[in-house]
Formats: sequence, structure tokens, C-alpha cells
Amino acid sequence: MHPPLNSLRSLALRLLPMLAVLMLPGCALFQPGADLSNFRTVVIDPGHGGIDHGAHAIRGMDEKMLTLDVAQRLKPLLQRRGYHVVMTRNSDVFIPLGVRTAISNAHPDAVFVSIHCNWTPSRSVTGVEAYYYNPRSAPFAANILHSIYNSYGSHSRGVKSCHYYVLHHNLRPATLVELGFISNFQEDARLQDPAVRQLLAERIAEGISKVQGGHAPASPGS
Ligand SMILES: [Zn+2]
Repeated sequence: MHPPLNSLRSLALRLLPMLAVLMLPGCALFQPGADLSNFRTVVIDPGHGGIDHGAHAIRGMDEKMLTLDVAQRLKPLLQRRGYHVVMTRNSDVFIPLGVRTAISNAHPDAVFVSIHCNWTPSRSVTGVEAYYYNPRSAPFAANILHSIYNSYGSHSRGVKSCHYYVLHHNLRPATLVELGFISNFQEDARLQDPAVRQLLAERIAEGISKVQGGHAPASPGS
């Protein structure tokens, strides 16, 4: 026996708002203040850390140490350009993904940059890429990728949309950049070179600040 149609409809009407609320935590909506034209804080997120090594390099430091090193080089470069910088980690520690996004979401005037190195079973794959979740972050990802893609003889694999947790749960303009494949002999060798990591940090800083003409906007009243 089927319940009357109108009681089904009223049940659906009562369930819909509940469903909408349940879905909200999965939908990162930009909030007021998070704007590519006026951000003053950059949250740098060195991928992985602690027990989470990330990708294993063919030779040398694993992903978690490479990302931390680039992040630590990037921090003073952004500070010199007038940005307030927040690191999700500043040592080799494990930070849950939810804590990383909470740090970003706690800063209304922030953008978020997650730094990673890529890996694939095929050793011939190379290239640099940048990800975003919310389409409003796409120009931010593109700017950084455009700035870094040829910094050490690599090439661009493009700007891509992806559901990575740190992007998906981020209320701020956010990107995740992959600096190259440490599963490829040439790119791994280059990424293990501190001079290359310094250059990458400089290019990332350039890409971030180019969004705003090269430096952070003056704070109101300064
Ligand atoms: Zn990674």
C-alpha cells in the first residue's frame, strides 16, 4: 500500500532543509573578506609531515621535507612584500587536514597555498600543476602556475579543478601546487637542489603578489 501523495510531498518538504544543512560542511563557500583583490594574509601549507612522509623521492629528501623547505623559504619573501604569513606547520610534524583548513578559515583576509611534490609509478611523467576547488580560486592558481612552470626547466601540466580536502573545505581563495615529480630522475634531482627550491619560492611569491600588483595592499589607515 502506498502512502498518499500529499503526505509524501510534505515529508520531502520537511527533509529538504535538513539535507541542505547536512550538505553544507562539504561545500566551501567564500565568505566576505576573502577576496583576491585585498588579501593581506597568506597561509602557507607545507604538504604532509611527521608520520605522513608524502611521496618518496628517488634520491634525497621525501615530499614532506621538500615542501617544508620551500615553505620556509617562501615565508620571508612574502613578509618582505608586506604580507602577514601563517604557516600550518613549521617543523616535521603531522597536522590533520581539518586543522590546516581551520587555520585558513580563521583568517578572513587570507589566501591559502598548499605546497606539494608529485609522484606517479611511471618514471617518465614530469611537470608542474596547480589545483583549485572553487572556480573563484582558479585565477589565483593560474597566476602561481604561470610564475613557476618554467623555473627549473619543467613544463606546465595546467590548472585543474579537484576535490582535495584542503581546497574543498577552505573558505578562502585556495590553491594546491605540485612542484614537480620526485618519481622522475631529472625533476627529483632538480628539486633536491636548494637553489632550485629557492627559485621556486621566489616564483611562488611573485605569483601570489602579482594578483595585487606586486605587494600587499596598504591596510586601512596606514
Ligand atoms: Zn603531497
